Amino acid sequence: MRSFTFFNPTRLHFGAGQIARLSEEIPASARILVTHGGASIFQNGVWQQVQDALSGYRLSRFAGIEANPQFATLLRGLEQARSSACDFILAIGGGSVIDGSKFIAAALCHDGDPLELLTGTPITAALPLGCVVTLAATGSESNGSGLVSHAARQEKLAFSSPLLCPRFAILDPNTTFSLPPRLISNGVIDAFVHTLEYYLTYSAHAPLQDRYAEALLRTLIEEGPLALASPASYGARANLMLCANQAMNGLLGCGMPQDRPTHLIGRELAALYHIDHAQTLAVIFPALLGEYRAAYHAKLLQYAERVWDFSRGDPEARVDAALNATRDFFRRLGAATQLGELGLDAAAIEQILAQLKRHGVATLDEQAELDLTRCERILLRAL
Ligand code: ZN
Repeated sequence: MRSFTFFNPTRLHFGAGQIARLSEEIPASARILVTHGGASIFQNGVWQQVQDALSGYRLSRFAGIEANPQFATLLRGLEQARSSACDFILAIGGGSVIDGSKFIAAALCHDGDPLELLTGTPITAALPLGCVVTLAATGSESNGSGLVSHAARQEKLAFSSPLLCPRFAILDPNTTFSLPPRLISNGVIDAFVHTLEYYLTYSAHAPLQDRYAEALLRTLIEEGPLALASPASYGARANLMLCANQAMNGLLGCGMPQDRPTHLIGRELAALYHIDHAQTLAVIFPALLGEYRAAYHAKLLQYAERVWDFSRGDPEARVDAALNATRDFFRRLGAATQLGELGLDAAAIEQILAQLKRHGVATLDEQAELDLTRCERILLRAL
């Protein structure tokens, strides 16, 4: 196991009715920028609960943070926060709203061009941020990272700072009942692939992290399809919400190799073709496993045995069965697993490779085994 430092300062309030705790978390004197996406918070009662919990507070509401949050949209939020002299941000939504709000929180404390914060300038200060999570997916409520899309550059730009860890996150599974099935599936797939990116690599002799990952994977396999088949099941929603949070709050990666090539290739796909983040993962991850079959062989066998119960017979057949089961799982959740199903062909591969080259493919893999040629082979497998 590698050395690590772990600190996660976000307080979680989990369960039905927890939105009422907002006033315990935000000083009464705060001027709050409340950020959200579309109109769903008015229809599902979340906005009413937030207003009730924060009656008497000064609120300035900024709507319209879209999936894959756009830099231009966030600049408008920044302007509104400045003109209303906000000193606290409350994000209501999923990963995109929370990521976008983190960027606004940092940009408000930055004197230069906000774009600098997405292109390498360190974040040295940020407004305090809290979240009401309405979509269990990216775990952004419990970490200090984010992604912002820049339309003109056709890029998704990453930023990160411990200063951006939300002060608190409220996770009430009831807020997820109004989500369409596609967004439920996306959350399950994202949590599943994040967990596998830590788990299914090189052996790090970290059995506790392995078993923690296996518990998450098996729970997602059980509860994901249940949430789709029984949309009214509070229990399934609650378990998915907790899984998504735990898969991405940083604990799982402690002491483990940190290769995330699926996300890095997927990010280019999302930026170029506006495909859902989770959907890109469902296409790239199985192809990547095929390509890394030899390097990850020991872990693939462990995955086959402990996650899918394939413990007998020829080892190669067990690995095949686990890879097929992974693809089947994504399909059962309604996701495509090939580029062709998304309407993309070999021409798209050239574009993706060009973007990867521009962004420095050498940094894709910490063991330096992923170059453009290998990326091309992965993408060809995904066709
Ligand atoms: Zn992700």
